[in-house]
Amino acid sequence: MNKNKNFISNALVWARKSSPWILHFNSGGCNGCDIEILSLLTPRYDVERFGILKESSPRHADILICTGPVTEQVKPRLKRIYDQIPEPKWVLAVGSCSCSGGVFSGAYNILGGIDKLLPVDMYIPGCPCRPETIIDGIMKLVELMR
Ligand code: SF4
Repeated sequence: MNKNKNFISNALVWARKSSPWILHFNSGGCNGCDIEILSLLTPRYDVERFGILKESSPRHADILICTGPVTEQVKPRLKRIYDQIPEPKWVLAVGSCSCSGGVFSGAYNILGGIDKLLPVDMYIPGCPCRPETIIDGIMKLVELMR
């Protein structure tokens, strides 16, 4: 019985590392970083060749990719989405705004970077980030998962 349990758990770990599913959430940015993330899905960058799949349900995702700073308005929604992702889960902050608040820092409704609300596993600064750096960040996060 224990052997079967180990086999299933190893298979799940192998599947997660070979094909991480990502969920993208903009918590209040200008959309510049979002456009760069969407370009990952185009034939030019084609992230599916690395097994990376963009998912629309938190319940199926492994990695939460956040763009933009955390606003007071979006705070409870972002937390709820994070809580719905099954363990183990990872958070990637994409863009200077999600790393530190960026150009929105100090505004009355801005909490700051994503790490003010969630545990962030990797930061990718840039305004906006280039698609190559986002792919590099995801692949480095997959290395961390290993
Ligand atoms: S880092 Fe720059 S491009 Fe990205 S959301 Fe912030 S202001 Fe926009």
